[in-house]
Amino acid sequence: MTKNTPFENYKARIVKTVKILGLSEERASAFLEADAIIEKDIEVNLSSGRKVFKAYRVQWNNARGPYKGGIRFHPDADLDEVKTLAAAMALKTAVVSIPLGGSKGGVVFNPKEYDSSDIQKISRAFIKAMVENVGTHKDIPAPDVYTSSEIMGYMLDEYEKIKGRSEPGMITGKPLSLGGSLGRDTATAQGGVYVLEESVKKWELSPKNLKVAIQGFGNAGMHVAVILHKLGYTITGLSDSKGALLSPLGLDPLAVKKVKEEGKPIDALYCEGSVCDSERLNKDQVKVGTNEDLLESPCDILIPAALDNVINAENAERVKAKIILELANGPITPEADEILHKKGVNIVPDILANAGGVTVSYFEWLQNMSRFYWTEEEVKARLKPLMTKAFDDVFKYSRDKSITMRDASYCLAVLRIDEAMRARGK
Ligand code: NAD
Repeated sequence: MTKNTPFENYKARIVKTVKILGLSEERASAFLEADAIIEKDIEVNLSSGRKVFKAYRVQWNNARGPYKGGIRFHPDADLDEVKTLAAAMALKTAVVSIPLGGSKGGVVFNPKEYDSSDIQKISRAFIKAMVENVGTHKDIPAPDVYTSSEIMGYMLDEYEKIKGRSEPGMITGKPLSLGGSLGRDTATAQGGVYVLEESVKKWELSPKNLKVAIQGFGNAGMHVAVILHKLGYTITGLSDSKGALLSPLGLDPLAVKKVKEEGKPIDALYCEGSVCDSERLNKDQVKVGTNEDLLESPCDILIPAALDNVINAENAERVKAKIILELANGPITPEADEILHKKGVNIVPDILANAGGVTVSYFEWLQNMSRFYWTEEEVKARLKPLMTKAFDDVFKYSRDKSITMRDASYCLAVLRIDEAMRARGK
């Protein structure tokens, strides 16, 4: 099976959206092209000598506010992917109605092959190269795959050094000591849980004993597992890149978290290397399986929280969940969307489901500009109504127009961006 590129998937969805809305070709073109693509070769003096890295910043659309989007350090980061993620950011900020646009950045290298001092030099070099393109009122970066709050701290420091002024709002996801926001670590998962709770009500699933399988145990997957477990959901499947654990009785995400913190794979809860404790596995009714097993396992709610394209034309028919909450970006292909829709599976689309992260980044930006900081309770108290309203808006639009939640979220986002562009006379 040939894999769709992320941008092909995005384009297919925009073409469908434009058709539903009846937008003219001219107005539709704004959703298919970036405002600006900045490509730089950054030269860095590393401990092993000078090296050149490819760096990207794609500024997709800023009609509704300054560009906003993460920076990833990844060997496979390429323009196609960065463009798609920048476009998704513009849609996401529009779906949750926060006054920001969309952008994304990347540096092509594998951070696992470099020590922390080299990573700091690469981070500073990225900002040096992009210094005129970013800023509190222009384009606000944040962490993404393989970039962390520490890296945001180095980037802020480099920016402030060059500009000669304090400007914490130029980047989000910073350490708390530099103006980061409380609640940012759990924001994506917490936002996802708020919309999941709405969807459980709307789609009339009994909230008692709902079974949840979660792919990926990183920032998004781990926190959502812990929050849902505390709320009383039964976590029947958890996975990482090495494999999955599955149990109809439920798994304890806190025990899995402990194993992961020791640097071990998820199945180390029951196995040492390839040798598993079958007595304990039988007692707990746990099976060690693959990521494919997890996606197809019996559950009410499936939460892909790792990679794109994992639910596709090959496996969609075998998915048993009633609701899929897309915490990952782009985990379902457009072909799989059609299959799942026919099966009656309800999808909470990524641009809604994982928008809690950018929403709390928005809160961080507000706190930085006012220099007045909120408690974690205040962050959560402001996140919940925004996420709930976004869900209600999308749900209502999908019911009114008899279209899927994904189509409704794309339509609402495109309409809101288009309205802002018209208001600017564009
Ligand atoms: P992360 O790097 O913290 O975690 C990723 C997880 O996926 C890890 O547990 C890893 O083991 C697992 N994984 C990697 N390869 C896998 C494979 N082949 N099969 C199964 N699992 C695999 O990343 P994250 O921040 O949790 O992001 C996960 C997804 O959520 C990404 O699509 C990201 O774009 C999206 N997302 C995250 C945030 C956020 O705030 N963290 C916000 C919006 C969207």
